[in-house]
Amino acid sequence: MGSIVILAVFERLDPLDRVQGLVAERATLHDLGHLAANTATGAISASLSIGSGWAVVHYVTPSSGGLALWPTQLPWLAQCVLVLIAADFLGYWIHRAEHRFPGLWAYHVVHHDIECLHILRGTREHFVTNLIRGCLISAPLVLLGAPIEALFVYQTLILTQGSIAHANLALRLPDGVHRWLVTPPVHRIHHSTARELSDSNFATISPLWDRIFGTWTDPTTQPPPQIGVDGDSVPDDFLGQLAVPFRRWQDLTRRQQSERR
Ligand SMILES: [Zn+2]
Repeated sequence: MGSIVILAVFERLDPLDRVQGLVAERATLHDLGHLAANTATGAISASLSIGSGWAVVHYVTPSSGGLALWPTQLPWLAQCVLVLIAADFLGYWIHRAEHRFPGLWAYHVVHHDIECLHILRGTREHFVTNLIRGCLISAPLVLLGAPIEALFVYQTLILTQGSIAHANLALRLPDGVHRWLVTPPVHRIHHSTARELSDSNFATISPLWDRIFGTWTDPTTQPPPQIGVDGDSVPDDFLGQLAVPFRRWQDLTRRQQSERR
């Protein structure tokens, strides 16, 4: 929360787009609804997955120390870096799946159907997406034996990094930085209306996995894209956005029933 407030001040001082901003953007109140919902579900998913993973490691398999695959002999800082790399790997594939499968896209479209980027856009996610991501990223790492403290470092960092990646900041960075860190220009490409561009730059912390798996688009070789989703819109209000996947599921069920008749 502190990082969001600090970034909001920087956005006012040195914005990339001087016309738009948190105050100028009418959807900000609805974005705050998602921030509140995702703060709650983030805490729930982290507690559930970390708590249940810890219980399995310590009570179900106490003799082996869980799956005992984690390199606990490494210094704590190195284990932290390893958690960040592994969590970013899991997040990368979950995010790719959200773009690939219509059932998951019905939730993730809420995050993409926007006209501009700013710090609150990082937390404008359907809370179900956040719940799924939280559990699927934390639980496997806890089961492998990753230190709980390192997972809390990741959970804190991901909120800050997500806000930076979506920020309307005129950061002047050396070209090479974009290859190693998800900066606002890197993530802006992912929010393009052009599907071939939005199906790239999936990673949250470092573009390392995008570069390895062939989904990297270098922002220094692309003009800033138009933000949004072509031909797939969601309601403007918070509750309407939460209802999107359920409405689509209802429509699909009705269509299938009428086809059968
Ligand atoms: Zn996406």
